[in-house]
Amino acid sequence: MIPTYPEQAVAVLFSGGDSPGMNAFLRAVVRLGLNREKVAVLGIRDGYRGLVRTARAVNGDAEALVRLKQDICNHPGRAGLISEQLHLIQMDHASVSGIMGKGGTILGSARCLEFHDKEVRKKVLQLLAGLNVRALIVVGGDGSLTGAKLLAEESDLQIIGIPATIDNDLQFTDMALGVDTAVHTLVWAVDHFIDTARSHRRVMVLETMGRESGDLARMAGLASGAEMIITPEPGPLNEEDMKRLAAKIEGAMTRGRGHAIVLVAEGVQFDPPQKRNRAYVLMDAFQQYFQRPGAPFPDLEVRPSVLGHLQRGGHTTPQDCILAARFADCAWKAIRETEGKSGITALRKNVVNVVPYGEPDMPERAVFSQEMDQLHDDLSSW
Ligand code: ADP
Repeated sequence: MIPTYPEQAVAVLFSGGDSPGMNAFLRAVVRLGLNREKVAVLGIRDGYRGLVRTARAVNGDAEALVRLKQDICNHPGRAGLISEQLHLIQMDHASVSGIMGKGGTILGSARCLEFHDKEVRKKVLQLLAGLNVRALIVVGGDGSLTGAKLLAEESDLQIIGIPATIDNDLQFTDMALGVDTAVHTLVWAVDHFIDTARSHRRVMVLETMGRESGDLARMAGLASGAEMIITPEPGPLNEEDMKRLAAKIEGAMTRGRGHAIVLVAEGVQFDPPQKRNRAYVLMDAFQQYFQRPGAPFPDLEVRPSVLGHLQRGGHTTPQDCILAARFADCAWKAIRETEGKSGITALRKNVVNVVPYGEPDMPERAVFSQEMDQLHDDLSSW
């Protein structure tokens, strides 16, 4: 029997920086689509870029669109995932089997500069209409959700955004997808660094991701017992600030502490500005302070490490898998019930809801961050 192209579908794409939990989300959205909603799910490979390339290949040509639909029907599920050419795949049960805990995204993610162009987005919207897509789900961080917002403003298509970024820099939700796993990875990393720090009586300065947000460093600091967290929120660090931080570590050493783990968020700025990684700038400043004339611990060594993309991978935590399922459930409810209304799923006070695009930052988030910083300080003082 020749498979027929679905009369309606919901499309899903992953865009920007990948985060753990994306696969868990894909599995949930596909399973709910097939099992509960009885709607076909089109997985889009490589985010907006996959859409832009396909729209360009079809170029508004009716016959090319028919050929694309045939291609999609002829390569369902895993067959489509293997095909390098096809950017749209009709997902089935088997194609999302065994992926829940895997980091990254089996559909691929990408950055796509062309998507900033309104004309390009118009062609993408035409393509989606031609493919009977009644809603598009965009999973990603700040940039990807900005693209989603523009699509929603420029069309009648329902666009549901899903906050997924390890940075936790989206202030309309308590947590984004992937944060919990990244914190878990950082705690694992700190555990490893502590062994060597303790053995050599060293200060390890570890740089975390997080863009302008200090949340990742903050949460990992609280969960790992790192002695110090340095976050961007209080503002740029000058020479005196760095001396003050070094003095704090030295003071703890005087009171019997043998080592220190310092977590510095990548968004931390310096006054005057510095080009090098934060971990290296702080290493030099701390080392200089520890070696000043008459210092009590001139042999105290500082070692830097930039943890980088390590934080994006790894086995997804149960917490993130659960959040992925809840976001997927919420997205489907919005598609089913709100008659085309676009918005972003958000977790607030343990409730998941769709909030409008452009929702203002929650002031509680900033207050909570300050409270967590104080709590960390109280817990870590020695
Ligand atoms: P993230 O979603 O992780 O924050 P980026 O900021 O790199 O990652 O954004 C991912 C993609 O989202 C970009 O490559 C682009 O395709 C799209 N995007 C970002 N900002 C915009 C924008 N202002 N207008 C349209 N598309 C955008």
